[in-house]
Amino acid sequence: MSSKYERGTVRPITRWGTEVMHHLNQPVTDFGPELQTLVADMFATMDAAEGVGLAANQVGVDLQVFIFDCPDKDGNRVEGVVCNPVLELPEGKDRRLDEGDEGCLSLPGAFTKCARPDVAKVSGVDEHGNPVAYEGTGLLARCFQHETDHTQGTVFGDRLSRKYRKRLFAEAEELAPDYPADWPITPMVDHDHEEVGAS
Ligand SMILES: [Zn+2]
Repeated sequence: MSSKYERGTVRPITRWGTEVMHHLNQPVTDFGPELQTLVADMFATMDAAEGVGLAANQVGVDLQVFIFDCPDKDGNRVEGVVCNPVLELPEGKDRRLDEGDEGCLSLPGAFTKCARPDVAKVSGVDEHGNPVAYEGTGLLARCFQHETDHTQGTVFGDRLSRKYRKRLFAEAEELAPDYPADWPITPMVDHDHEEVGAS
Protein backbone atom coordinates (compact mmCIF):
# COMPACT_ATOMS: atom_id res chain seq x y z
CA MET A 1 0.00 0.00 0.00
CA SER A 2 1.25 3.48 -0.78
CA SER A 3 1.96 5.98 1.96
CA LYS A 4 2.84 9.66 1.96
CA TYR A 5 5.44 9.03 4.69
CA GLU A 6 9.04 8.03 4.14
CA ARG A 7 10.33 4.91 5.85
CA GLY A 8 13.55 5.16 7.85
CA THR A 9 15.34 2.58 9.95
CA VAL A 10 13.60 -0.02 12.09
CA ARG A 11 14.27 0.49 15.83
CA PRO A 12 13.67 -2.00 18.65
CA ILE A 13 10.31 -1.62 20.39
CA THR A 14 10.42 -0.59 24.05
CA ARG A 15 8.42 -2.83 26.39
CA TRP A 16 6.09 -2.13 29.30
CA GLY A 17 8.05 -1.74 32.52
CA THR A 18 10.64 0.57 30.91
CA GLU A 19 10.53 3.95 32.64
CA VAL A 20 9.79 6.05 29.51
CA MET A 21 6.54 4.11 28.99
CA HIS A 22 5.15 5.13 32.36
CA HIS A 23 5.54 8.88 32.75
CA LEU A 24 4.17 11.95 30.98
CA ASN A 25 6.42 12.53 27.97
CA GLN A 26 7.94 15.88 26.95
CA PRO A 27 6.03 18.10 24.50
CA VAL A 28 7.59 18.47 21.05
CA THR A 29 9.08 21.95 20.57
CA ASP A 30 11.76 21.26 17.93
CA PHE A 31 10.48 20.33 14.47
CA GLY A 32 13.93 19.94 12.93
CA PRO A 33 15.69 17.05 11.20
CA GLU A 34 15.91 14.91 14.33
CA LEU A 35 12.11 14.78 14.56
CA GLN A 36 11.84 13.97 10.82
CA THR A 37 14.25 11.04 11.29
CA LEU A 38 12.33 9.87 14.34
CA VAL A 39 9.00 9.91 12.45
CA ALA A 40 10.48 8.03 9.44
CA ASP A 41 12.01 5.45 11.78
CA MET A 42 8.69 5.08 13.63
CA PHE A 43 6.88 4.33 10.35
CA ALA A 44 9.50 1.72 9.45
CA THR A 45 9.22 0.18 12.91
CA MET A 46 5.39 0.13 12.90
CA ASP A 47 5.44 -1.58 9.47
CA ALA A 48 7.97 -4.18 10.61
CA ALA A 49 5.82 -4.94 13.67
CA GLU A 50 2.63 -4.92 11.57
CA GLY A 51 1.01 -2.43 13.94
CA VAL A 52 -1.59 0.27 13.31
CA GLY A 53 -0.08 2.95 15.56
CA LEU A 54 3.14 3.73 17.42
CA ALA A 55 4.17 6.36 19.98
CA ALA A 56 7.70 7.76 20.32
CA ASN A 57 8.22 6.25 23.77
CA GLN A 58 7.66 2.83 22.17
CA VAL A 59 11.04 3.36 20.50
CA GLY A 60 12.46 4.76 23.73
CA VAL A 61 12.11 8.48 22.92
CA ASP A 62 10.60 10.76 25.58
CA LEU A 63 8.45 12.94 23.29
CA GLN A 64 4.71 13.41 22.86
CA VAL A 65 4.37 12.18 19.29
CA PHE A 66 2.55 9.28 17.71
CA ILE A 67 1.99 7.98 14.20
CA PHE A 68 -0.84 5.86 12.86
CA ASP A 69 -1.84 3.94 9.76
CA CYS A 70 -5.14 2.40 10.70
CA PRO A 71 -8.55 1.57 9.23
CA ASP A 72 -11.70 3.25 10.57
CA LYS A 73 -15.01 1.42 11.03
CA ASP A 74 -15.80 1.65 7.30
CA GLY A 75 -12.43 0.17 6.35
CA ASN A 76 -10.91 3.47 5.18
CA ARG A 77 -7.20 3.57 5.91
CA VAL A 78 -6.05 6.79 7.55
CA GLU A 79 -2.42 7.67 8.24
CA GLY A 80 -0.83 10.60 10.03
CA VAL A 81 1.48 12.08 12.63
CA VAL A 82 0.30 13.88 15.77
CA CYS A 83 2.62 15.78 18.10
CA ASN A 84 1.38 17.05 21.47
CA PRO A 85 -1.98 15.27 21.08
CA VAL A 86 -5.14 16.42 22.83
CA LEU A 87 -7.96 13.87 22.89
CA GLU A 88 -11.65 14.69 22.86
CA LEU A 89 -14.17 11.96 23.73
CA PRO A 90 -17.97 12.04 23.49
CA GLU A 91 -19.96 12.59 26.65
CA GLY A 92 -23.54 12.01 27.73
CA LYS A 93 -25.87 10.38 25.21
CA ASP A 94 -23.20 10.42 22.47
CA ARG A 95 -20.90 8.21 24.54
CA ARG A 96 -21.07 4.57 23.46
CA LEU A 97 -18.49 2.00 24.50
CA ASP A 98 -16.82 -0.40 22.09
CA GLU A 99 -15.81 -3.60 23.90
CA GLY A 100 -13.33 -4.67 21.22
CA ASP A 101 -9.98 -6.37 21.69
CA GLU A 102 -6.92 -4.24 22.27
CA GLY A 103 -3.24 -5.10 21.96
CA CYS A 104 0.02 -3.18 22.35
CA LEU A 105 3.28 -3.57 20.42
CA SER A 106 5.08 -2.94 23.73
CA LEU A 107 3.44 -6.05 25.21
CA PRO A 108 3.58 -8.05 22.01
CA GLY A 109 1.15 -10.81 21.14
CA ALA A 110 -1.36 -10.39 23.97
CA PHE A 111 -4.87 -9.07 23.43
CA THR A 112 -7.84 -8.49 25.69
CA LYS A 113 -11.16 -6.68 25.67
CA CYS A 114 -10.87 -3.04 26.66
CA ALA A 115 -13.97 -0.84 26.68
CA ARG A 116 -13.44 2.56 25.09
CA PRO A 117 -15.67 5.19 23.48
CA ASP A 118 -16.36 4.23 19.83
CA VAL A 119 -15.45 7.64 18.43
CA ALA A 120 -12.56 9.93 19.32
CA LYS A 121 -11.17 13.23 18.11
CA VAL A 122 -7.52 14.08 18.42
CA SER A 123 -5.81 17.34 17.64
CA GLY A 124 -2.26 18.64 17.81
CA VAL A 125 0.38 19.52 15.25
CA ASP A 126 2.07 17.45 12.56
CA GLU A 127 5.81 16.77 12.21
CA HIS A 128 6.27 20.26 10.70
CA GLY A 129 4.36 22.06 13.46
CA ASN A 130 1.17 22.60 11.40
CA PRO A 131 -2.16 22.12 13.20
CA VAL A 132 -3.91 18.80 12.59
CA ALA A 133 -7.22 17.34 13.78
CA TYR A 134 -8.68 13.89 13.12
CA GLU A 135 -11.93 12.17 14.01
CA GLY A 136 -11.77 8.40 14.23
CA THR A 137 -14.33 5.58 14.40
CA GLY A 138 -13.87 1.85 15.00
CA LEU A 139 -10.27 0.69 15.38
CA LEU A 140 -9.05 4.21 14.53
CA ALA A 141 -10.94 5.64 17.53
CA ARG A 142 -9.31 3.00 19.72
CA CYS A 143 -5.90 3.76 18.20
CA PHE A 144 -6.18 7.52 18.93
CA GLN A 145 -7.04 6.79 22.55
CA HIS A 146 -4.33 4.13 22.94
CA GLU A 147 -1.60 6.33 21.40
CA THR A 148 -2.56 9.52 23.26
CA ASP A 149 -2.43 7.42 26.43
CA HIS A 150 1.13 6.38 25.52
CA THR A 151 2.27 10.02 25.21
CA GLN A 152 0.98 10.53 28.74
CA GLY A 153 2.65 7.45 30.19
CA THR A 154 -0.49 5.30 30.36
CA VAL A 155 -0.61 1.77 28.92
CA PHE A 156 -3.90 -0.02 28.32
CA GLY A 157 -3.12 -2.47 31.12
CA ASP A 158 -3.61 0.51 33.45
CA ARG A 159 -7.22 0.69 32.23
CA LEU A 160 -8.09 -2.96 32.90
CA SER A 161 -9.56 -4.64 35.94
CA ARG A 162 -7.13 -6.72 37.98
CA LYS A 163 -8.59 -9.95 36.56
CA TYR A 164 -8.20 -8.91 32.92
CA ARG A 165 -4.76 -7.43 33.57
CA LYS A 166 -3.59 -10.70 35.12
CA ARG A 167 -4.90 -12.65 32.16
CA LEU A 168 -3.20 -10.25 29.73
CA PHE A 169 0.18 -10.58 31.45
CA ALA A 170 -0.14 -14.38 31.53
CA GLU A 171 -0.78 -14.44 27.78
CA ALA A 172 2.14 -12.06 27.11
CA GLU A 173 4.46 -14.19 29.23
CA GLU A 174 3.50 -17.29 27.30
CA LEU A 175 4.27 -15.57 23.98
CA ALA A 176 7.42 -13.74 25.17
CA PRO A 177 9.88 -16.35 23.81
CA ASP A 178 8.56 -15.63 20.29
CA TYR A 179 9.69 -11.98 20.43
CA PRO A 180 13.46 -11.36 20.36
CA ALA A 181 14.73 -8.51 22.61
CA ASP A 182 15.35 -6.28 19.57
CA TRP A 183 12.04 -7.14 17.87
CA PRO A 184 11.01 -6.12 15.22
CA ILE A 185 14.63 -5.72 13.97
CA THR A 186 14.88 -9.48 14.44
CA PRO A 187 11.49 -10.84 13.35
CA MET A 188 9.29 -12.82 15.69
CA VAL A 189 9.28 -16.59 15.68
CA ASP A 190 6.39 -17.46 13.40
CA HIS A 191 3.55 -19.39 15.01
CA ASP A 192 0.70 -18.02 12.91
CA HIS A 193 -0.44 -15.67 15.65
CA GLU A 194 -3.69 -13.85 15.04
CA GLU A 195 -2.52 -10.32 15.50
CA VAL A 196 -4.68 -7.58 14.18
CA GLY A 197 -4.66 -4.01 15.24
CA ALA A 198 -2.00 -3.74 17.93
CA SER A 199 -0.55 -0.32 18.62
ZN1 LIG B 1 0.65 0.45 22.68
